[in-house]
Parts: sequence; C-alpha cells; structure tokens
Amino acid sequence: MRIYADNAATTKPSRAAIEAMLPYLEEEYGNPSSLYTLGQRAREAIEQAREEVAAVIHADPRDITFTSGGSEADNQAIRSAAEKGRKAGKTHIISTAFEHHAVLHTLNRLEKEGFRVTLLDVHENGLVRPDELDAAICDETCLVTVMTANNEIGTIQPIRALGELCARRGVPFHTDAVQAVGHLPIDVDADHIDMLSASAHKFHGPKGVGFLYARKKVPLVNLIDGGAQERGKRAGTENVPAIMGMAAALKESAARMDGDAERMRTLRDRLITGLREIPHSALNGDAVKRLPGNANFCFEGIEGESLLLLLDDRGICASSGSACTSGSLDPSHVLLAIGRVHDVAHGSLRLTLGEDATEEEVDYIVRNVREVVEYLRGFSPVWRDLVSGKANFIL
Ligand SMILES: *Cc1c(COP(=O)(O)O)cnc(C)c1O
Repeated sequence: MRIYADNAATTKPSRAAIEAMLPYLEEEYGNPSSLYTLGQRAREAIEQAREEVAAVIHADPRDITFTSGGSEADNQAIRSAAEKGRKAGKTHIISTAFEHHAVLHTLNRLEKEGFRVTLLDVHENGLVRPDELDAAICDETCLVTVMTANNEIGTIQPIRALGELCARRGVPFHTDAVQAVGHLPIDVDADHIDMLSASAHKFHGPKGVGFLYARKKVPLVNLIDGGAQERGKRAGTENVPAIMGMAAALKESAARMDGDAERMRTLRDRLITGLREIPHSALNGDAVKRLPGNANFCFEGIEGESLLLLLDDRGICASSGSACTSGSLDPSHVLLAIGRVHDVAHGSLRLTLGEDATEEEVDYIVRNVREVVEYLRGFSPVWRDLVSGKANFIL
C-alpha cells in the first residue's frame, strides 16, 4: 500500500497532462520558431496553451511567460521589479520571513547588491497583517512580494487586501502562487496582482515547467540571454510537451477546483482532529485559512526525520520541514518564523492530501502517526526528561 500525502512537494501527473504531452514527444516535435507547417503547429499549440493558462487566472495571454518552473518565475519577477526600482532610485523590498527559498535567496542576493529588505512578521497563525504592510511601505519601496499560500504550513494570505494596498500605494505586487494556482481561485485583476509565479508539477502537470504572469508596467529582465523566444524575455527553444502538459493539467484542476477543495477540507479537518488527540502536539498555522489538503503538526520530544522513515515503512509518504531543508539539520525557517522554538520545530510533520484522498486513508494516517509518535517517544531522552519533570513541556 502507498498513501501519497506529500502533494505540496509534488503531485502525480494527471492522465490529461500525459495525454496532452504525448503527441509533442512523438510526431509533433517541430521547433515553434520554424517556418514550415510542423513548426507552426507547435507554435499554435503553445499559443493555445498560453490562452488556457491565462484564462485560469483571468489574465491577458500576452502577460504570460513560460519558464522552467516556480523558482525561475520567482527569480525573474523579483529581479525585474528590482531593476525597475534601481533605475528610479528605489531600493527597498518588502516580503515575509517564511517565503520559499526561491524568493528569500533572491532577496539575500539583492541585499548584497545594495537593496534593503524588510521581512514582515507572519505571527503565530502564519498570516501577514495588512496594516503592518501599510506601515512598512515607504517612498523607496519598489516591490512587495508575499506568497499566496505557504508550502509548509499551508496558510493562505489575504492576497486581495495586500494587492489593494499595494495598488493604492503605487507599489508593484508579486505573489508566489505556486501552492495556490489550480487549487484556489485567483483573479489577477480583482486581486490587484502585478506579477505571479506558478509551477506545473504542483497541480498535476510535469516537472520543469511553470509560468510568470507580469503586467506591462513591470518590464521583465532576462535571466537567460539568447534567442527571441517568449517575446525576447526568456531565451531557449520552448519545452513544447511540458507546456502542453501544464495547460491540460491546469484546465482540469481549475474545472474541478471547487468540488475538490470542499471534499479535501472535510478530510483535512478529520486529519487535524485525529492528530490533535496525540498528547503534546500542535497544529502549525491558522486552522481555517489554510490550503484544503494541508495539515502540519509539531510533536514534542521526537525527531521529524525518524518519524518520516517509520511512516515510509508503513507506506505513508510525508515530509518534515520542506523538501529543500530536509537533509540538513536546520529546523524549517517557516516554523521558526511562526515562533516555534528549535526543539519543537525539529519534530514537525507535513501531510498534504491529494484530490483523490479517502476517509480510510486519513484514518490509516492518523492511526499510524499516533503509533509511531508513541513508539519514538518510548526511547527519546528528550521525552524522558519532559515526563520526569527535568524539562518543561512547551506544547
Ligand atoms: C515548489 C515551490 C516553488 C518552486 O517551484 P519549482 O517549479 O519546483 O521550481 C516555489 N514556491 C513555492 C511556494 C513552492 O511550493
């Protein structure tokens, strides 16, 4: 048996995505820049894909640039706004402490280049407060970048309120919507979003493809120089099969979104209720304003890594911290950002359900997490100290 509960790390490619890709891996292999019919058919296909992708976020297709994924889109968005800012003498950027590393590491680099970065507090519930953003914006601010939904704890930001605020203050607003696109409704106009990053493998498309939405008011800088593909903003022969797979996956996810989300929220809440019964545990992030499939917990007195390995033995794929930080011993920057202390942050577990999850699977997860946590605590010196009163419980 395998229960895949790590959909925030990646998702299973849908049948529709695979079928949309196959012709472009087999017979329709033309280069979209070629003038003969085989090439022009590939060109038409990707322009159709651009329209489909744009429609889902209510965007103008001309504002969509295909990229190699979410990380590239984040880098390009931030670098573009920074460049525009630099030219106008504005070198202040506002973000949050719990962004994806594609955002945070780009900001670190810009700091070395002379930019000043303010990271907003996300508080214990994992949510930005619009009034704190308002207070942080100054005349030098050239960009606000706040993720739509967090990849570890799943909290959903008040994007429309943040976007409105940025529009009112005249500051470009970027959102890393990689965890949200295909899962939550997004309307770039109504939400006042100027730039948005998305990645296909988070909504049942292939890996290595994504897109950047950017309004004309933020001219894009090139991360890759070369040919004139993507209106000169992203050189390199287009990954036609991947783009086709992405568009098909997104179209399907968007069509099913409302029904899927409702069902997943019910299952997620069943999961949260079950896991909360484990003594000295705590849910990370707001219980309501979170992605439909996300449950993220800390369990006192255990190591997240051991928990993951034992759950894997029982057929459950889950994660601790983010895939990017696992392998290092540093606790997740996201959990530290919501105020979890190191010891507690180490014992974290992220479960992210897929659209096809069932009640039986959720009950199996709850039963097994409960058993494994109890087992690990049985020989944890940290737990022994807590139980004997030598150390104090935090949770
Ligand atoms: C997965 C993820 C990314 C990176 O996307 P890739 O396509 O894997 O580069 C960026 N931001 C968030 C929030 C993510 O979840």
